[in-house]
Parts: sequence; C-alpha cells; structure tokens
Amino acid sequence: ESSKPKWRRVLLKVSGEALAGDQAQNIDPKVTMSIAREVAAVTRHGIEAALVVGGGNIFRGASWAGSSGLDRSSADYIGMLATVMNAIFLQATMESIGIPTRVQTAFRMSEVAEPYIRRRAVRHLEKGRVVIFAAGTGNPFFTTDTAAALRCAEINAEVVLKATNVDGVFDDDPKGNPQAGFLDTLTYQDVIKKDLSVMDLTAITLCQENNIPVVVFNLNKPGNIEKAIKGERVGTLIGA
Ligand code: UDP
Repeated sequence: ESSKPKWRRVLLKVSGEALAGDQAQNIDPKVTMSIAREVAAVTRHGIEAALVVGGGNIFRGASWAGSSGLDRSSADYIGMLATVMNAIFLQATMESIGIPTRVQTAFRMSEVAEPYIRRRAVRHLEKGRVVIFAAGTGNPFFTTDTAAALRCAEINAEVVLKATNVDGVFDDDPKGNPQAGFLDTLTYQDVIKKDLSVMDLTAITLCQENNIPVVVFNLNKPGNIEKAIKGERVGTLIGA
C-alpha cells in the first residue's frame, strides 16, 4: 500500500473545454471515460470527490452577449444549462462503469437532477457517491470556477483541483510563447497582482478568503487526475 492520501474530500473542477478533447463534437467520450476511470480509482480508496463542471465547450454567456446583442443574463442562463448537459453526460459515463453518481443543479430541474441541497450533497459523499454540481452558482455574471470555490467551501472540501488543457500556470501564454516559464507554486496574491489567467478574480478571492488551496493541472496526461486527487505533486499549487 502506498502512503496515506493527503486529501479526504476534494472538489474537482472540469472545464467544458477540457471535455471537448480533440473532437469536433462538443464532448469527447474518451475524455469523459478517462475522467470516470480515474475518479473511480480514488473513490474506491475512500477519498470523497465532488465535481463542478463547466460549459464552455457548448456555450459561454459573456462571448454571446457581446457578439449577438443577447442580454447577458439570458446568455448566462444558457451557459448554465450547457453545464447541465455536460454533468448528465459525465454522470451517465460514471454510472456505466459502476460509480454511483448524483447530479445536483443550482436551479431546479427536478425531473432531470436533484436540486442543490448542501447537507444532502455531503451525505452522498459520505456514502461514497460522486456528486456533480451543475448550473454553476445559479446566478448570471458568475463562472463555474467561482461555483467550484463556493461549493468547495460549503461542503468543507479541502482543495480545488482545476483540471485544464495546460500543464499548470506559466508566466506567459505557453501557446503563444514557447519560452514561457512554468510556475510550480504561487500565492493567491501572485495570481491577483500579475493577473495570471488561472481563475477569475471572484473565484481566486473566494479561495484566498477561505484558505482553499488550488491545484491547476493537465487532465490530458493519463494518471494526472488520480495523482491530483491523491495529493501527489502535479501542476501548479496555489496557496497562501
Ligand atoms: N455561468 C453563469 N453562472 C455561473 C456559472 C456559469 O452564468 O455561476 C454561465 C456563463 O455564461 C458561463 C457558462 O455558464 O460562460 C459556462 O461556464 P464557464 O464559462 O465557467 O465554463 P468553463 O470555462 O469551465 O468551461
């Protein structure tokens, strides 16, 4: 047996973009299956995992509001609905390999999923179920990163694990600048002052105020989700 895992309860944030993989479609089933397998591997060892899923692979409110004249709140509701689609896809994938999973939505869609009830979410986790939080915070003008920070604080999870398409945080955009330096650890202040595009300010501030460490890592590398959930060093660690 390996050493005792670092975390007891984690909040895994999966962005919509990460779900798209290299598919032309919105969701790559290879990606959802690898997420499901890696989450299964750790929850079988007793680590509790809650997920917040984004929706950027389908719809981003802010960009539509800007380009189409759609009002921002309406656009954001569509964005939140997009996260519900991803959540149900992930749930079905997880259950197909035998992981009991519940979806809770921030606004009611009770024929499709449970409404978000904090105590109930915690109870599911205690019973070893994976809980997927969908529809973000339920409020327009917020992001699913903020939802991740908020749900993490609410359910007393110990860390936000932000799964992305990049290895972690760099001092410049690694896609534009191959010389960009990888940052191993960072403080919340670094992120805020240098305006590093890790999370929006609302999300990172919420993490800072509640002392929630954030790990930013690449979900496309096999084994990374498992490592991140177990608390092994992967990606960039942001803390006080
Ligand atoms: N959204 C929102 N309130 C929230 C969370 C999300 O209005 O609390 C909307 C917003 O329009 C956003 C979209 O849902 O663009 C998808 O979420 P996000 O962009 O955070 O997804 P990700 O970048 O993680 O794929």
